[in-house]
Amino acid sequence: MAAEGGGKVLLRFWGVRGSIPTPSPANLKYGGNTSCVEVRTSTGQLIILDAGSGIRPLGSSLAGEDGSAEHPILIFMSHYHWDHIQGFPFFEPLYSKEKSVIVHGFSSDRTSVGQTFGDQFANPYFPVDMSVLRAKIRFDTIGVETREVGGVRITTSYLNHPQGSLAYRIEDGDRVVVYASDHEHGKEPFDRNLRDLAKNADVLIYDCQYTPEEYSSKVGWGHSTWQEGVRVANDAQVKELVMFHHDPAHSDFFVDSMVQAAREHFPNIHGAMEGMEVNLKEYSPEVAYKFGLDKRYNLRHHVPLPLSVRLRDTVSKQEKTIVENLSLDGAFFLTEDPLPTGTHVEVEIELAPAETLGSPSRIKATAKVVRCEKIGEKAGIGITFR
Ligand SMILES: [Zn+2]
Ligand SMILES: [Zn+2]
Repeated sequence: MAAEGGGKVLLRFWGVRGSIPTPSPANLKYGGNTSCVEVRTSTGQLIILDAGSGIRPLGSSLAGEDGSAEHPILIFMSHYHWDHIQGFPFFEPLYSKEKSVIVHGFSSDRTSVGQTFGDQFANPYFPVDMSVLRAKIRFDTIGVETREVGGVRITTSYLNHPQGSLAYRIEDGDRVVVYASDHEHGKEPFDRNLRDLAKNADVLIYDCQYTPEEYSSKVGWGHSTWQEGVRVANDAQVKELVMFHHDPAHSDFFVDSMVQAAREHFPNIHGAMEGMEVNLKEYSPEVAYKFGLDKRYNLRHHVPLPLSVRLRDTVSKQEKTIVENLSLDGAFFLTEDPLPTGTHVEVEIELAPAETLGSPSRIKATAKVVRCEKIGEKAGIGITFR
C-alpha cells in the first residue's frame, strides 16, 4: 500500500505500555502510550496489532498513504481491554472516506467484534457515534486458525488472560514475528500452544509486565514476567525477544534494570520503546534495531573543546578536532572525512588542558553518528551518546 516494503519486514512500536497511558518525564525513554505495533510486510502492506493510545500518532503518520479498498489497513486485535482499544476512536483514517479498514478480533461471549467497538462510541462514553466514521470499515471475526491475508500467513492461538487474548504469528516469506501480549504463564495448554506458535520466530514480542518478585502478588491479573519471557524464548528458540506491555508504575530506570537482568539469561533482548524500529531483512539472519531517540532534544551549548574521535573497533582511524556544540545527549563537530550515519565511534572530549588542572579532565563516551553533512571542505558530524 505504501512505498515501503521491498524485501524487508519492518516493525514500529507506537505504544508499549500496559494497562493505562503513562505520560511522564520518568517514562520518556520507553514511552507512555498503550499497545500498538505497526508491521510493514515485505510488499509494503500495513498490519496494525492492537489499537491502544499509540494508534493515534500512527494514524497521523499515515496521511498521504493509499489505504484504499484495494489496499485496506488491516488491524488485528489481541483483545478488548481498555489499553488495547482506547486509541481506536482517535485513529484518523477512520474519518476519511478514501480509506478502507478491516478490524479482526475474536468474538467475545457477549458481543460481536463490531458491537464491541460500537459500544466504545456509545452514549455517554464518547461525544459522537460510529456514524461519523467515513471510512469503509469491516469487522471480521478471527478464532484459532491460519489464514493468508495481505500477502502474509497469520496463525493465532489463545493466551491465558481474563476474558481471553489472541496471540499472532505473522509469517512473511522466511521472516516470522510473533505478538503475544497479555498472557499469564503457568497454565496448560496455553503455555505449550504459545511455544508452538513462537517456534523459531525471528522476533517474539512478549508480555513482560512484572519482575518475578512482583508477580508473586499479581497472580491472576493476566500478565507475565521477563523471566517467563526468557523461558519461552529459549524453549521456542526465538532469535530476539522484545519485552512488551511495561507496567504503568515502572519508570525508565526500572525497565532498564529489568532489561539488564533479563539480558544476563538471554542476550538478544530489547525493551520495547516508542519509536523503536526493528528491521528484518530478507535472506539475512540479521535483525536491526533503530531507536526513536536517535536525535538530540536537549539545549545545545557552544563549547569549543578539543575532541578525539575514533571509529569503534579500529585503532588506525583517529582524528583530533574541536566540538562545535555539546548537549547532555550528544555533540556536533567537524571532521576531514565524512562518517556514515549509523557508524559507532568512541569520543574523548578534553574538558580542560593539562596545565590548568595538573592533569587533563575528559569525557569518554561511545556514540552513534546520526547526522553527516558537507560543510565547506569538511564534514559536519552529529552524534548521540550511548
Ligand atoms: Zn493490556
Ligand atoms: Zn488485557
